[in-house]
Amino acid sequence: MIRLKKPNVVILGAGYGGLMTTVRLQKMVGVNEANITLVNKNDYHYESTWLHEASAGTLHHDRVRYPIADVIDRSKVNFVKDTVVKVVPEENRVILENGELTYDYLVVALGFESETFGIKGLKEYAFSIANVNAARQIREHIEYQFATYNTEEEKRDERLTIVVGGAGFTGIEFLGELVNRVPELCREYDVDPHKVRIICVEAAPTALPGFDPELVEYAVNLLERKGVEFKIGTAIKECTPEGIIVAKGDEVEEIKAGTVVWAAGVRGSHVIDESGFEAMRGRVKVDPFLRAPGYENVFIVGDCSLIINEETNRPYPPTAQIAMQQGEVCAKNLAVLIRQQGELQPFKPDIKGTVCSLGHDDAIGVVFGKKVWGSKASFMKKMVDNRALYLIGGPSLVMKKGKFNFL
Ligand code: FAD
Ligand code: NAD
Repeated sequence: MIRLKKPNVVILGAGYGGLMTTVRLQKMVGVNEANITLVNKNDYHYESTWLHEASAGTLHHDRVRYPIADVIDRSKVNFVKDTVVKVVPEENRVILENGELTYDYLVVALGFESETFGIKGLKEYAFSIANVNAARQIREHIEYQFATYNTEEEKRDERLTIVVGGAGFTGIEFLGELVNRVPELCREYDVDPHKVRIICVEAAPTALPGFDPELVEYAVNLLERKGVEFKIGTAIKECTPEGIIVAKGDEVEEIKAGTVVWAAGVRGSHVIDESGFEAMRGRVKVDPFLRAPGYENVFIVGDCSLIINEETNRPYPPTAQIAMQQGEVCAKNLAVLIRQQGELQPFKPDIKGTVCSLGHDDAIGVVFGKKVWGSKASFMKKMVDNRALYLIGGPSLVMKKGKFNFL
């Protein structure tokens, strides 16, 4: 079949999945083969995997983002800065806040949002580590609490209490940054460190449920030594303007806190639901080629997709690692469809491991099946972070944004 016109490829979201799809596709196809449009609500990409650092204030938010224009080939990719409202897959249309696009092939890569499971007050009173704006707000809010503490005649110690909901990877990585940041804040604002409380509330019977127990113990011991109080087997039931209500069995407790950060769950973008795709918490169970069921021209990658681990028969946890690997396969499949040549490639994740930072100088992880911790794990985490930059922007991006504080 001969094409009468160049197909329109529209990619929604410039996170790990969307940007990887774009930079790989722009290398594979020529200007005359397809019109490629990338839509993102900001003109920058942020490293979601570094947001805990920006939120704690251990890394400036400008360090975790870079202009999309730096990594796309503008002769091949048309960038549209806009917010996606919904997709109308039956009509091959995308509704944006400020316009509309039509497509022949679509890639939905709109990433994650915080999932509050309908828990009362969380949306109103808790923060979540969701994007650059949210990270900046968390950092500013904590700093404001410290700055305000000494200005009040009647001191309210709860101003200096920070609650982290969830001891999953996000919660633990954020705690690792906080324990390094709080001593700096105490010095800066003349606050007695003994007045500060950092409390982590985790509903499961352990921190980092499902991860290697020895490494979990290492992380919890380190964080406890640096001042974190863990409330394990305890669920957040409500968030109020004053703090949180938690329950452990029948015991209910109120914890007053100036800052509550909800790091206890994510879901895929609400745009997935708005668009009528069949999904679970904004995640679409994609076919082996990463397409949405019922729509052969719609690919879904990253945290909006759901893929099953056949060994465990459970969904893979959504990660940047998987999002980037999906981006590569998605680009190859798009090239096949654009050229109408070759065969679609099924996606199979190649999980190299998991490394969880505990501040800039410590970490735990399982890499290629081997346990690592301490400075070796921390080095590996920085290499993983740098690798993500390399895969999207090559050596120049690593030089600009990479982490080289190895000592
Ligand atoms: P995202 O990276 O979330 O990108 C989505 C993009 O779409 C963003 O640019 C966003 O601005 C844009 N967007 C969203 N909605 C709209 C809209 N309506 N209109 C237009 N644009 C929109 N995973 C790992 O593998 N390793 C780690 O070490 C790791 N650490 C993490 C640390 C933290 C603190 C967090 C929160 C997550 C971490 N993850 C990690 C998970 C990882 O960040 C996600 O799995 C990954 O970001 C998903 O990539 P994505 O491309 O699907 O979406
Ligand atoms: P998560 O779902 O992995 O962990 C959430 C935690 O919150 C769980 O331990 C859960 O038991 C707990 N929880 C749920 N409801 C609760 C409640 N009401 N009260 C108290 N605790 C509650 O979410 P996450 O940590 O944000 O991670 C999201 C995804 O990002 C995961 O796939 C994760 O693997 C990935 N991630 C990876 C890394 C890394 O590789 N270094 C870092 C961060 C995130």
